[in-house]
Amino acid sequence: MPEFPEMENYRRLLSEHVVNLPITGVTVNREKSINVEPEVLAGRLVGARIVFVERRGKHLVFHLNDGRRLLLHLMLGGLLFYGTEEERPGRSTQVEIAFGDKILFFIGLRLGYLHLLSVKETEAALAKLGPELLDRRMNGERFAELLKGRRGAIKSLLVNQQVFAGIGNCYADEIAFEAALLPTASVQGLSPESITRLYAAVRKVLSEASEAGGYMEMPFMAGDTLTGSYNDRCKVYDREGETCERCGGTIVKTEISSRKVFYCPECQHEH
Ligand SMILES: [Zn+2]
Repeated sequence: MPEFPEMENYRRLLSEHVVNLPITGVTVNREKSINVEPEVLAGRLVGARIVFVERRGKHLVFHLNDGRRLLLHLMLGGLLFYGTEEERPGRSTQVEIAFGDKILFFIGLRLGYLHLLSVKETEAALAKLGPELLDRRMNGERFAELLKGRRGAIKSLLVNQQVFAGIGNCYADEIAFEAALLPTASVQGLSPESITRLYAAVRKVLSEASEAGGYMEMPFMAGDTLTGSYNDRCKVYDREGETCERCGGTIVKTEISSRKVFYCPECQHEH
């Protein structure tokens, strides 16, 4: 599932490639992926331009020149591809937005969606999200403040979008590893030092993964070699049975509240 780094990577690429280009066509192959009639979406978009692309948690918000917004959530398995008709991906697409001879393909939007909203509706849709972890307003103190009174496993806390926005299964495990904390460790048992370590790990993992194009390997466009580069740098996620880089232990896989969890039982601890 795309998380903060994958969406941040898409945000950068989209800002580079589609901002200010006039939209020339809209194709909707799956009406459930959008929130208005396909003709209404096309009527609103054709001739309009995306003037700004913003990321909020795992969402992207496309700001249109008429003040409206397109809110995108890729959920499980959603992907974006940008290219010509000849480069069309060999998978079914749910929505396509054309910019002249280039097309932005939305792939795998089964649970994901692309909604046309007003500013107010967009704000309402995002209102319950917790703060951004790499925002300038975030710091160690504020992070510790957000953990106060929280219970349960670190993993469950990190993936809770109402506490922090943007972390999912992969990066929660990578962050716990980086902090040398067990993902199953309880939040209320963390010392101030462990919380400081956890916050440093959050910043390091999210910023490095964003710069490396995230872990999902399908390129965004022809010639894109950055997207997915972080996959090779994941230390525990999807690495059950592999050797831990840090201590030589063996990575194990378990479950917390029906979520997959990967960690090294040798060098990750309760606090
Ligand atoms: Zn280890």
